[in-house]
Amino acid sequence: MRISTSGPSFHSVPQRASAKQTARAQEGSAIETMLFGSVRPKVLDAAHFPQLAEQIRWLNRQKMRIASFVGDKDEEYEIVLAEGMNACIDPHGKIYIGERLISLSDQALLAGVLAHEIGHRPKTWKKLRQGHGLSREQLLAFARDEEAKADRVAGRSLAALELDPQRLCTFLKRTGNFEKQPETYYPADVRVAMIIEAYEAQRTRKDAAKSLFPGYQRATDIKNIVDESKKPPPTPRRSRRLGKTA
Ligand SMILES: [Zn+2]
Repeated sequence: MRISTSGPSFHSVPQRASAKQTARAQEGSAIETMLFGSVRPKVLDAAHFPQLAEQIRWLNRQKMRIASFVGDKDEEYEIVLAEGMNACIDPHGKIYIGERLISLSDQALLAGVLAHEIGHRPKTWKKLRQGHGLSREQLLAFARDEEAKADRVAGRSLAALELDPQRLCTFLKRTGNFEKQPETYYPADVRVAMIIEAYEAQRTRKDAAKSLFPGYQRATDIKNIVDESKKPPPTPRRSRRLGKTA
């Protein structure tokens, strides 16, 4: 789905939940709060920001490429425009990207932020829900690893997209973060080192694959992934019987 033009859509449908389901939901939200803060960003109507339309379209194309790169489907993620300078992803794959962040960023930085959010891959948080009863310190340690995982995906994705990782690194060094919970991160210089290491590793892998398999780039380069829904329908093949008249 493309960027939402409706209002906030994360309110839940009222439903009766069993005690077990309620406990599980609370556990999930404790983890979510640890990772992303307790207040979700306010969703904005993208129709009111026509000056961002082109960048949002571009972001949606990168979303498709990055999702494919990490082995997920494009539909598992949805980008919504939100207030402010932050970005975050919710347990359902909804990625909130701040309107000011989009206005003030170039493509390399925006792709890095988007890849970090997709790199959280919330469907994998199920494992964490089993960790109910962990101490705050243990949860924080988990959250830091979770952020490191997302940073590594950002580095690898930027290499795959052939975009400069320095934009994301400079931003992290200068502003600290684009998400909200400073205590759940390694220090900026550690994060930068991890992003660059992941970027270099992916580039080396790609270069090696290219030299070993000449057809590799065309087949696997995520820059070449196209949106199937936008392809023109295939032209029907003439039947062999009709072809005989030639
Ligand atoms: Zn994060």
